[in-house]
Amino acid sequence: MSQVVDLLLTNAIVLTMDDKLNQFEHGAVAVQADSIVAVGPEADLRQEYESPQTVDCRGKVLMPGLINAHTHVPMTLLRGLADDLRLDVWLMGYMMPVEREFVSPDFVRLGTQLACAELIRTGVTCFADMYYFEQHIARATAEAGLRAVCSQTVLKFPAPDARYYEESLAAARDFIQQWKGHPLIVPSVAPHAAYTCTKEILQATAALAVEFDVPLHTHISETALEVENSRSEFGMPVVPYVKKQNLFDAKVLAAHCVHVDNGEIKTLLHHGAGVAHNPSSNLKLASGFAPVGKMLEAGLNVGIGTDGAASNNDLDMFEEIRLAALIGKAHTGNPTALPAPQVLEMATRLGARALHIGHLTGSLEPGKRADLILVNIHNIHNSPRFAREKSGIYAQLVYASHSSDVTDVMVNGKWVMRDRTLTTLSESDLLAQAQEYAQKIDQFLIVREQSVLSKLIAIGGATEGESFEVQVKVRVSDPVPIQQAVEKAEIEVLHHRHYHEFDTYFRFDDPKQGYLRYREDEYIDEAGKVTNIRYRLTLLGPAREGSFPSDVLLSRSRFLAPATHSLRFYHEYFKPTGEVTIEKERQRWRILYHGIEFYINLDEVKEPAWGYFLEVKSRTWSRRDAENKAQLANDLLEYLDAAGGATVAMDYIELAEGAKS
Ligand SMILES: [Zn+2]
Repeated sequence: MSQVVDLLLTNAIVLTMDDKLNQFEHGAVAVQADSIVAVGPEADLRQEYESPQTVDCRGKVLMPGLINAHTHVPMTLLRGLADDLRLDVWLMGYMMPVEREFVSPDFVRLGTQLACAELIRTGVTCFADMYYFEQHIARATAEAGLRAVCSQTVLKFPAPDARYYEESLAAARDFIQQWKGHPLIVPSVAPHAAYTCTKEILQATAALAVEFDVPLHTHISETALEVENSRSEFGMPVVPYVKKQNLFDAKVLAAHCVHVDNGEIKTLLHHGAGVAHNPSSNLKLASGFAPVGKMLEAGLNVGIGTDGAASNNDLDMFEEIRLAALIGKAHTGNPTALPAPQVLEMATRLGARALHIGHLTGSLEPGKRADLILVNIHNIHNSPRFAREKSGIYAQLVYASHSSDVTDVMVNGKWVMRDRTLTTLSESDLLAQAQEYAQKIDQFLIVREQSVLSKLIAIGGATEGESFEVQVKVRVSDPVPIQQAVEKAEIEVLHHRHYHEFDTYFRFDDPKQGYLRYREDEYIDEAGKVTNIRYRLTLLGPAREGSFPSDVLLSRSRFLAPATHSLRFYHEYFKPTGEVTIEKERQRWRILYHGIEFYINLDEVKEPAWGYFLEVKSRTWSRRDAENKAQLANDLLEYLDAAGGATVAMDYIELAEGAKS
């Protein structure tokens, strides 16, 4: 007696993508509820099974659905927002500020629905996501009928869904508790990357993943700069560093792994970590070439991912598969590297294993979930067909198939696309809603880009807002008498420091923007050695606020922050129309003069070779206070025997600009 099943798929070229790459030219698959019951020659299955529902696949390829091993699905709503930038400028300058402003449960839901529609159309049945408000992503994904590992992001910066990392960690815990055991969703936690997390975050997220036995999703060694920074800060590359934080106690899915050495590959393998290779993203951001061949040879489970649509700019896995094969060859100079069957394994069975759900999906085998797709290979761009070698069909799929050749998609035993029509989502509604978001985000960026100050605030880290000070600067010919005067008993020196300072001033077309100064302060100790370097960013007011008798100026600095990015980053982000560099030796005294705090700066400006300047400054809060301090500043100059010197403009940049024009 034959067994009754829910569905028989017949007349297909069945590619199981199992360990032996079994394929059945006149094949069939039997599905019962959410699972595959049998796979094999059609003649055999027809003998063993009968079904009220038989689907004739008409000679199409029937294969496991593709696994997108790394993405950020809601970023479909940020597609095309900012392109052709370096990773840090793109991420810190555009993505994160826009995300902080716009990302909400509504945003991630719509973005997820858009992504699911696109993923289904391109033959993806399962993906690994990393984003914010992950419970809303999980819900939208489950409603769309797709399978996913959904990872709640935790990082050291304020996030759209959390002010502090403790909040996102608590959200991750709640999310995992609520979704664990769901038929489509595997909840997970995502410490964003080693460089965006503290040690504490890495340790806490690893412990959480271990506690609930869920995967941990992170970015590892995406750029050479990341590895360089890890080496200089922690004395080791990224993989051993995160290992030290117990990250590999968890089931890790590591995205990128572009810059990993042989030892790191061994560590990843030893700890059963999966890797997501993202060829488009790595190419577009010029991150480098991941050693995919080496990783596969070592035995690592390497899947293929699109990364987010903001850095790709689509979620087309067919394109990713083809790129993975082509880059694998070009990068190693070996056309036999990453052959078609192997790349297709990466996009299916190995990808599922990299996500730590290889027992559920990734191949057509009895007992696994019915996650499958039909691909038409009888199109004009994919003809004729040679059947002599069994591997020919894989080459057809990798090198000639388009994602639009996918006609039908089933996840967990349910059709989500039939004959190119989506069954769970309305595309026209999604398109209209997405356009509304694009208009709002456009407007936000237009306003932000109008002002250097708002661009500065957008990248965060402000430690101080607007401040005023009275200051007077005098050219001096001999610094020695001034140094001696400072040390006289009438002045109480609170603090003395010696610095070597490099200032880069950014100039903008609109003079109202003021100047942005990037300062590198090297502390010089008693022995004349550099002991510490500090980087600071100051937005100087567009012009002096006022002046007092004897050229004492009231100046305004609008913003002060530690400069946490490189000078190159700020240059690319602010796009100044010009820049001026000034290098000087500075002796700095913080003193009390008649009970009032002043700074005395004795500078030797070396580049340009301007010689010595004496600067007297004091912070001020009110007009009256400023008047009083302006008088004291003049007295102080007199006291220092510098009163007769030629006073100069309020800042070196003004002097430089004056000298130029
Ligand atoms: Zn990513």
